[in-house]
Amino acid sequence: MIHVGIGYDVHPLIAGRKLILGGVEIPHTLGLAGHSDADALLHALTDALLGALGEPDIGHYFPNTDPRWKGAASSVFLREAAAQVQARGGRIVNVDMSLIAERPKIAPHLQQMKERIAQALGVTVRQVGVKATTNERLGFIGREEGIAAMAIASVDLPETAT
Ligand code: MG
Repeated sequence: MIHVGIGYDVHPLIAGRKLILGGVEIPHTLGLAGHSDADALLHALTDALLGALGEPDIGHYFPNTDPRWKGAASSVFLREAAAQVQARGGRIVNVDMSLIAERPKIAPHLQQMKERIAQALGVTVRQVGVKATTNERLGFIGREEGIAAMAIASVDLPETAT
């Protein structure tokens, strides 16, 4: 049976941090603030996969009060969500994401993000969609105060596991 899940995340942009999105370090003057590496794209995707399973969100499994996850690569969280799909005898059909960032230009990094995500999930690059848009200079994203990400995941689960 096909299940879908949705995820959303946002992190503030600050000076003195690396900008990591989709597991890729992107050269920029600002980076995302957070307890882990603050990869909003992977956080949204992790939530989408957990949501497809009817599980609680990323904060439940990886609380930002836990020192173990300080500075952690968010691929750890994504791999755990993929492992939960597998543990139920499920299979990821496809995932799709939208990044909303005013700057920097994301397009040159999309292919590498897809490859990193596909590798973490154990799927092919063709099962992974990553897109990027600006916020047309509107609101907090337009003022470059933060970056947001949305994700959706489709998972095929055995009926017994539903
Ligand atoms: Mg987050």
